[in-house]
Amino acid sequence: MADRLARRLHRVPPTIFTTMSALAARTGAINLGQGFPDQDGPPSVIEAAVAALRGGRNQYAPGPGVPELREAVARHQRRCYGIDLDPADQVVVTAGATEAIAAAVLGLVDPGDEVAVTEPYYDSYLATIEMAAAVRRPVGMRRVGEEFRLDVDALRATVGDRTKLLLVNTPHNPTGAVLDATERAAIAEVAVRHDVVVVVDEVYEHLVYDGRRHVPLATLPGMAERTLSISSAGKSFSFTGWKVGWVTGPAELVAPVLSAKQWLTFTNAAPLQPAVAHALDHETAYVEELAAGLQSKRDLLCDGLGKLGLDPVRPEGTYFTLSNVSTLGWPDAMSFCEALPGRAGVVAIPTQPFYDDADAGRHLVRWAFCKETSVLERALDQLSNADLTA
Ligand SMILES: *Cc1c(COP(=O)(O)O)cnc(C)c1O
Repeated sequence: MADRLARRLHRVPPTIFTTMSALAARTGAINLGQGFPDQDGPPSVIEAAVAALRGGRNQYAPGPGVPELREAVARHQRRCYGIDLDPADQVVVTAGATEAIAAAVLGLVDPGDEVAVTEPYYDSYLATIEMAAAVRRPVGMRRVGEEFRLDVDALRATVGDRTKLLLVNTPHNPTGAVLDATERAAIAEVAVRHDVVVVVDEVYEHLVYDGRRHVPLATLPGMAERTLSISSAGKSFSFTGWKVGWVTGPAELVAPVLSAKQWLTFTNAAPLQPAVAHALDHETAYVEELAAGLQSKRDLLCDGLGKLGLDPVRPEGTYFTLSNVSTLGWPDAMSFCEALPGRAGVVAIPTQPFYDDADAGRHLVRWAFCKETSVLERALDQLSNADLTA
């Protein structure tokens, strides 16, 4: 069957998460691979969804999303960031952030156009850019001591007049970096200079630690008119299975996204959309507690991995830490992750699939800490009783 696969998918490997979650299921290992929480989000939001299911909200929602969710997203952007949006034409609801990204690329990019993208990238970026027949131009995040930072020299060298779109993720999966003021200013500078549209994946906007704040690129001078901001209920409210996301920005950029989106799903999750509106308006405290809890879990996992000689970074945001397995003698992260369920009963994710630059990602393993504390403790216990050397 492989020879029947369309050429546009030849360079897109199957998602590593399917492979590694299947490995976890087969071996009964603790899954610190795929980034989903093991506890559901707020009960009030589930009740709102049940009420919508029982209340006759079960037919197609409008293509751009139900009005109450578009209005709640606009209120959220105003309350959190001072961004003013007209819910009528500056907010579109999507089937998760994933569809928002796909619709943005398909709606704004022609075959052969250059798309600059932060690397390592979320794996759907690669697939989406390939399906759009665009040319991917990675811009690396580099490890500097205990953290990863955007390589701003590489950014300046990569983004130019041929760049149609710059796809940025902050807080950044998998490195955990939250773009700082210098990095944000560099992005705005190159985007304005070369008249580039910037698409920012902000799904971890609220999951930032140590008193940090996420600052949307759309709030920088010259950026509101060229920036699409993408987020989702999955990460903020622990409903990753709902796949309700949204994209916001100037009407001139949101319209092309909607043009593509209407032919992808048209619409989705009608009864869940009002529930997510309820979450955005009423569950701010949940999100704050979630972030505080994740910060403690980050510390638990990073301290534990550090004691095992795995050299983790301490992420500024997201669900993940990266660690370097070359310190234990492994030739690459893939062989480490393949051996790990047998050695320790734990699954983690090799980051090579998230890089064009194979050397940059060769030794990096991603570990998720969005799990119950007892699960993290058990995983660390098993890891510390295992031989983790190559
Ligand atoms: C989880 C994730 C997504 C996908 O979000 P959905 O709302 O589930 O589609 C997109 N981008 C990043 C960086 C993610 O980690």
